[in-house]
Amino acid sequence: MEIAERLRCIKPSATLSVNAKTLELKAQGVDVISLAVGEPDFPTPVHVCDAACAAIREGFTRYTAVPGIPALRKAVGGYYDRQYGICPPPEAVIVSNGGKHALYNLMQALLNAGDEVLIPAPYWVSYPDMVSLAQATPVIVRAGVELGFKVTPAMLDAACTPRTKMLILNSPSNPTGAVYGQEEFDAIMQWAMDRGLFVISDEIYDQLVFAPAVMASAMRWWQKFPDRVAVCNGVAKSFAMTGWRVGYTVAHPDLVKKLATLQGQCTSNVCSVAQKAALAALEGSYDCVRSMNAAFRRRRDMAYAVVDSWEKARCPRPDGAFYIFADVSGYFREGMRGSAAVCTRLLEEAHVALVPGVAFGDDNCIRFSYAVDDQVLASALEKIGAVLHSR
Ligand code: GLU
Repeated sequence: MEIAERLRCIKPSATLSVNAKTLELKAQGVDVISLAVGEPDFPTPVHVCDAACAAIREGFTRYTAVPGIPALRKAVGGYYDRQYGICPPPEAVIVSNGGKHALYNLMQALLNAGDEVLIPAPYWVSYPDMVSLAQATPVIVRAGVELGFKVTPAMLDAACTPRTKMLILNSPSNPTGAVYGQEEFDAIMQWAMDRGLFVISDEIYDQLVFAPAVMASAMRWWQKFPDRVAVCNGVAKSFAMTGWRVGYTVAHPDLVKKLATLQGQCTSNVCSVAQKAALAALEGSYDCVRSMNAAFRRRRDMAYAVVDSWEKARCPRPDGAFYIFADVSGYFREGMRGSAAVCTRLLEEAHVALVPGVAFGDDNCIRFSYAVDDQVLASALEKIGAVLHSR
């Protein structure tokens, strides 16, 4: 079969592949613990589910406007007003099928063949492939464990060429959990604006920042440079709504119109019922968000204490999201060299699924998602530790 050229350089999403492999093993009866896929283990809050049920009962089951129902676009503005004191108008908001789709659409709308896109590494698995699908070139700027997995303007500048068009930021980071401080973030944004770049700020984990760390959002920069900044977010991680597929983008209204045109030719609107659910989430009480944040923080503390106690593992304490990204190269040995080999060994011997760091641009590391029950997490870490330290 002849498959289109553009798919030649695209890899399957590693996070989803490991998840699929885990589900397969579970179906075969193997007792696998998954610390692989990044999704909250909590149920979607009841008031959100109720809103969806009501929408179905009321027959809210038809096509909606492509960029989202007006109330939801307005509620996204309300969310930013509530959280950051900046209220983007509805015409600066488009609702898409998850944060992933929001990001994909932006790349399709903004990139041309030959454009270069700066991607700090470790990066979320899908960024380079999304850039390649838009026929542009991903340029990876690596920040290792010794830098706390954070890039600086100087590092970005060294990778910049006249073809550089865009920078993708992701704080809190998937996979490292690193959170840029306000000054660090502003320095990068200022540099990018001075350079004339477009910045996509993927802020899907903005509710998962652990005090004393504070979320530095690009919203203020969007307000100042609306045609050069886009902020992506969604309800998946904050409200335990991964399967509902509701993400959104704040961007210049002209760009939002183009994104809507693109979306109108491929997916149309996001599921009408899911939009009503997202509306209830954004307009309702955020107590559920706060209590999930507290649970993730507790698990972060517990998991980090264990990983930090492993003599040859190196890992800065993550300040956000729900991942630990540990450099385990100190444990590399015959038959277990490289992150994929480590993860294979851990799956086979410890029956714990993790995602290899190579998928995120750092082959010395492995990613743990601690979005699982406390006891399951403790037991998984014990098993991982035993395999790493066995000879
Ligand atoms: N973003 C989550 C993860 O990294 C969900 C899976 C995905 O879409 O990559 O595990």
